[in-house]
Amino acid sequence: MRLRHIPGSEQQIEESPFVISGPEEFRGQWNMFFGNENPLHIEVGMGKGRFITELAAAHPEINYIGIERYTSVLLKAVEKRSLLFLPNLYFLCVDARTLPDIFAEGEVDRIYLNFSDPWPKDRHAKRRLTSPQFMALYDRILAPEGQVEFKTDNMGLFDYSLESIPEAGWTIIASTKDLHHSDMAEGNIMTEYEAKFSAMGNPICKLIAVRSGESNR
Ligand code: SAM
Repeated sequence: MRLRHIPGSEQQIEESPFVISGPEEFRGQWNMFFGNENPLHIEVGMGKGRFITELAAAHPEINYIGIERYTSVLLKAVEKRSLLFLPNLYFLCVDARTLPDIFAEGEVDRIYLNFSDPWPKDRHAKRRLTSPQFMALYDRILAPEGQVEFKTDNMGLFDYSLESIPEAGWTIIASTKDLHHSDMAEGNIMTEYEAKFSAMGNPICKLIAVRSGESNR
């Protein structure tokens, strides 16, 4: 994402009631934080938050946490959130590498990755959010029946993910290279990037992955 630093964004994020500071404190206790026993779904690299905000409005029976590492980007999501009554939606301003410090084993029921940065150079492959390194982090926090859902218009990143995810010990249970014209389109909620790139005519790819193994653990 092209970044324009917004002066003062750090302080606004720090003071926002919708961004949880010191999230490690709630590790293993997110149900207590939300005050219910509902499932927990997270979006990693949520950008300006259109997708997770619409999801949270459509599913009050699910708790959502959106994760974005840059304050200038997160600020847009916070502004949207402050106009809505969505007690099931909060945000974290952290790097996804810290996920296991924030969520206990099996605490997350679904992980969304949308239009993740492609990091096309081989030497940056570890930074891709579908790399074996990141899949290993998701393995630590995801519930036994949990899923990872990934969307992108970047064919290089999608082809890489079709290989890297099974190599990391996961099974891809559904995938398409043209989401909007496939039977996976039902109930699809667009992200900011998805709206922009599909308007340019780019087909959108999607896959859903679960852990491999007889009983899916
Ligand atoms: N998901 C949004 C969408 O589809 O419109 C935004 C896509 S944008 C290309 C990717 C976002 O992921 C950026 O805002 C970036 O800062 C964030 N991001 C990338 N790597 C991250 C990481 N390791 N931890 C947290 N956020 C990350």
